Amino acid sequence: MPVSTVTAHRDGVGADPEDQRCPIMPTYNPPSIMFVRGDGSELWDRAGKRYIDWLAGIAVCSLGHSNPEVAAAIAEQASKLLHVSNVFATEHQAPISKMLSQMIGRPGQVFFSNSGAEANEAALKLARKWGGRGRHKVVCAYQSFHGRTLNTLAATGQPAKWEAFMPLPDGFKHAVWADIDDLERQLDDSVAAVLLEPVQGEGGVNPATTEYFAAVRRLCDERGLLFIADEVQAGLARTGKWFGFQHFFDEGAGPDVVTMAKALGNGMPIGACWATPEAAAAFKPGDHATTFGGQPMATSAARRTLELMLDMDAPAVASRAATRLIDAVVGIDGVSTTRGLGLLMAVELEPGIDAKEVATTCLRNGLVLNAVTATALRLTPPITISDALIDEGVEILARSIAEVRS
Ligand SMILES: *Cc1c(COP(=O)(O)O)cnc(C)c1O
Repeated sequence: MPVSTVTAHRDGVGADPEDQRCPIMPTYNPPSIMFVRGDGSELWDRAGKRYIDWLAGIAVCSLGHSNPEVAAAIAEQASKLLHVSNVFATEHQAPISKMLSQMIGRPGQVFFSNSGAEANEAALKLARKWGGRGRHKVVCAYQSFHGRTLNTLAATGQPAKWEAFMPLPDGFKHAVWADIDDLERQLDDSVAAVLLEPVQGEGGVNPATTEYFAAVRRLCDERGLLFIADEVQAGLARTGKWFGFQHFFDEGAGPDVVTMAKALGNGMPIGACWATPEAAAAFKPGDHATTFGGQPMATSAARRTLELMLDMDAPAVASRAATRLIDAVVGIDGVSTTRGLGLLMAVELEPGIDAKEVATTCLRNGLVLNAVTATALRLTPPITISDALIDEGVEILARSIAEVRS
């Protein structure tokens, strides 16, 4: 087949997913736009059209696209040392781990991965080592999202996503979200851990509560279970705290294990599974490994990202932007409510307004965001977004909702 017939995704024009010539597997709907450049909270497509980005690659580029300091760190590392394997130490891992423990507020240890799903896989394997033989199950919540590998899919509390891949790996139970009685009912002698998001992201932006997380902590303490917080989307300043769980715990308290990824490398693929020294001690050499996880290229980006976040007091930066954004968005005709924490936000539209249609219209009008449910939009802009780009985006959103309604 001549290469010239291969079109579709690669050309950014979208394609029939059945089209055998499309070079990309049809796991996503054919995209209609190809982005070629980003700067801060703005993107440009290949035709040169400018967009305001309120998605940030799904809560990834928190410090904006092409952050010059992160870019410089990556460029420097690229010509210095790319990869030597985890058989050897490399220079950025320990500083990152220390910064994460500083943000979490307790000492801990880190396993580096390449993604959120892999960070959760590490936590799930740690839970099995913690529990020991026969005590391996993990209780998760319905509407949760923990990744797309087979285990993290089984952890994900969305039965519709399981259907095509049955049978799923054994070892997961699901409880009604934010219902402590239902969670307690799942706890038997086969359970080693509880895995929850502080704010369910993909599930519709549903924050936990102080009462719920405190009760989960108490149950885990009583039964010797690990409390694992999936902070892949909420973590690293986006919610206005370093980690989402910190909205619900006093300083120095929290879960035993914290997984993260998305914002960690500001666009470089990197994840981490943080655990208290007591929990981490369940792993022995040989129990878990990764070729690429924590390699110098990815950690150079993560190290600079975290340094920048600490320097600017990123949670305060996110809170300030969130206040301005929420205040403006709730005033838009057609918006009924907002929910979430900080800049992990959903905008519920008035009944009858289709969120997907609004998202598509926004895109046409130069604002990138996505529909997190049939009736709600998700807003996860870079935390460094300027007031001007918040205001301009609000104007586009208002106009787009009006277009959809008329
Ligand atoms: C995105 C996400 C994941 C999966 O991360 P990947 O990097 O896509 O594997 C896991 N948990 C939560 C809460 C997420 O938002």
